Amino acid sequence: MKKDIKSFTYDELNNEMISLGLPRFRSNQIFDWLHKRGAVSFEEMSNLSKSLREELNDLYYISSCEIEEKYVSEIDGTVKYLFKLTDGEYIESVVMKYKYGHTVCVSTQVGCRMGCSFCASTLGGFKRNLSAGEIEGQIHSAQKDLGFRISNVVLMGIGEPLDNFENVLKFFENVNNKKGLNISLRSITVSTCGIVPRIYDLTEKKIPVTLTISLHAPNDEIRNHMMPINAKWNVDEIIRACREYVKQTGKRISFEYTLIKDVNDTPACASELAHKLKGMLCHVNLIPVNDVKERKNSVSSNENIYKFSEILKKAGINATIRRTLGSDINASCGQLRRKRIEVK
Ligand code: SAH
Repeated sequence: MKKDIKSFTYDELNNEMISLGLPRFRSNQIFDWLHKRGAVSFEEMSNLSKSLREELNDLYYISSCEIEEKYVSEIDGTVKYLFKLTDGEYIESVVMKYKYGHTVCVSTQVGCRMGCSFCASTLGGFKRNLSAGEIEGQIHSAQKDLGFRISNVVLMGIGEPLDNFENVLKFFENVNNKKGLNISLRSITVSTCGIVPRIYDLTEKKIPVTLTISLHAPNDEIRNHMMPINAKWNVDEIIRACREYVKQTGKRISFEYTLIKDVNDTPACASELAHKLKGMLCHVNLIPVNDVKERKNSVSSNENIYKFSEILKKAGINATIRRTLGSDINASCGQLRRKRIEVK
C-alpha cells in the first residue's frame, strides 16, 4: 500500500528518503514541493529526475483536497469551500478576511463523534480522522485558489481537533516549519468541546497556539443537555484544566458561548458564568446560534445577547459578541457536507 507522503513531519520525511538512499537535499526539495508549494502530484516536482518521480509515485501518494464547491459571500467576501478528499469524502473550510490578514477555518475530521445538540457537523456521525496532510491541504488549496497568503488558522471546522490529537500535532509541526507554510503557532487557534486530558497535554507541551473552549453553558445541568461530552468531563473539570493552562503558559484562554434562546441565554446563566470564570485570564466570545435545519434552536434576541455581555463585563470578564461572517453562504461548518450527503 502506498504511504501518505504529505503527513510525514520534516524528520520523518528525511528518514524515509534516507531509507531510499537519497541525500538530505533531496528530502528538502520534496518537503518544499509538498509543504511550501502545495504540489498535488510528483510530476510537478521538476527539479527531481523522472526516474525518482516515478519511484516516489510507486511508493507514496499525495493526499488530495480538491475544490468541489465554492461560495463567496457578497456581504463580506468570506469564501466557503466544500473539498473532496482522496477517498471521496467531503470536508469544509472557510476563509475570512480580518484587519490583520486572512484566516482559514479548517476541518480536522470527516464528521464528528461529539454529538453536540446544536451542531450540524455531528449529524451524520463520525467517519474518520483527517491526516496531518489533509488538514494542511485545506490551506494549500484555498491559498492557490485565492492567490494570497493565509496568515492565520483556526481549527474550528468539522470535527473535534483534540479527538485527533496526534495528527493535529504533526500538522502544527509542518505548517510552522520555515521550509513549509511558515505559519507562526501563535497565529493558530485550536477549539475544543472539552477533552480535558488533551488540554493538560497542550499545557505540558507548552505549544504556543491559542486555546478556545466551547463551553456554551455555566453548569452541568444545562451543558449535559447540549453536549454529551460533558458526562465525561464536566464544567468544573474543564475550568480547572483551563486555570492550570493559564497558570502554566501565561496565555489567555477563550471561551465560546453560543447563545440559544431559553436554553442558556438568561441573566442567571451570565451571572453563574461570570462567577465560574472569576479571576481567570480569559475572554468570552458570545455567538448567536446559527440556525441548523435539523435542529430546533432559536436565536436569542439582540437584547438578551447584549444583556448577557453586559453582565459579564460588569463582573470584570472580557466579553465580545461575535460578528457573523458569510451569513449568506451558510458559512458555518457542517452544513455543506451535510447537504452533499443527503443528495447522494
Ligand atoms: N469541535 C470543536 C471545534 C469545531 S466547532 C469545538 O467544539 O470547539 C466550532 C465552534 O462552532 C464550536 O464552538 C461549536 O460549539 C460552534 N457551533 C457549532 N454549531 C453551531 C451553531 N449551530 N451555531 C453556533 N455555533 C455553533
